[in-house]
Amino acid sequence: MEFEERTIKVIIDTTKCPDCSSKACVDACQVYDRGILQLSDGKPSVDHLSPEEVKRRGTECLACEYACWQLGNNAIRIEVPIKGLDEYLRKRNLR
Ligand code: SF4
Repeated sequence: MEFEERTIKVIIDTTKCPDCSSKACVDACQVYDRGILQLSDGKPSVDHLSPEEVKRRGTECLACEYACWQLGNNAIRIEVPIKGLDEYLRKRNLR
């Protein structure tokens, strides 16, 4: 599943979630964000919120990705687009 906050996209491979004992993403979201992730059938979900509400509440803290990497099954990837980065790297022959 995936969802967008204001400037980032959160992508979660929920096939890795049923055998995750920590569910650390949800706890991290409660502590560091505004609890937009909730468990639904053993998987993190934002289905209880509209896409607009997810964007409004999300703080883009990245805590779920870190918590899942540390304590879960490494199921979360967050894309953080940086405007102009590709051009910057190209100009400096870094890409
Ligand atoms: S911590 Fe990672 S593996 Fe565990 S439920 Fe959350 S997203 Fe799934």
